[in-house]
Amino acid sequence: MSRALRVGGLVPLTTLDYPGLLACVLFCQGCAWQCRYCHNPQLIAPRGEHEIAWSRIMDFLKRRQGLLQAVVFSGGEATLQGGLVPAMEEVRQLGFRVGLHSAGIKPWAFAWAAKAADWVGFDIKALAEDAELITGVSGSGKANWRSLEHLLASGVDYECRTTVHWHLLDVERLWTIAERLQSFGVEHFAVQLVRSERMLDPTLPRVAAPAEVEELWQRLGQMFPHFVLRKD
Ligand code: SF4
Repeated sequence: MSRALRVGGLVPLTTLDYPGLLACVLFCQGCAWQCRYCHNPQLIAPRGEHEIAWSRIMDFLKRRQGLLQAVVFSGGEATLQGGLVPAMEEVRQLGFRVGLHSAGIKPWAFAWAAKAADWVGFDIKALAEDAELITGVSGSGKANWRSLEHLLASGVDYECRTTVHWHLLDVERLWTIAERLQSFGVEHFAVQLVRSERMLDPTLPRVAAPAEVEELWQRLGQMFPHFVLRKD
């Protein structure tokens, strides 16, 4: 079953994608959204030009047993693939911790996958009412926040993260996202400034950070028990 998992790329070693562990990242092929700032646009199509066969990935992981500690399933949107959870289970049987990066595009599928993970990096795109401006898909905000509820109910370790492009999000809205996350009980929050060198929508203008942003980072640091700002 897991042979059906479509993987469009692999990073063999990272210290950044699973907290505190040496990991590799599998970039699953396919996504149903079209985020204007998406920095992996080649992963959006259901089939990729450079897919890696699951058998090759398993061979790679067997050679890394005892060297790597975790495998992160990223995307694209990994949870759209029926082969994801069986693949996660295969990886766990090799002794690896299992990470998942997701935006919870289909809440029921996300809930299933989150329970099979040891840690989830969860993308909050925007306020539910604003998400379509980023994703281009009606109903995406509702799905995104419904999946957050599934994540928090699962008890799995997590980090919520919001990618910021200052043309698509302003300080006031980012603060309101944070307030809403806090009201949901979120304790781990990260803000990631967009990587503007490669984006799905090349017409997105470069916009400098607003003047009041340093104060916002300070307030977010006081608001959440765990807050991280990632500038690249
Ligand atoms: S950034 Fe958006 S379009 Fe790109 S993979 Fe993630 S959810 Fe899909």
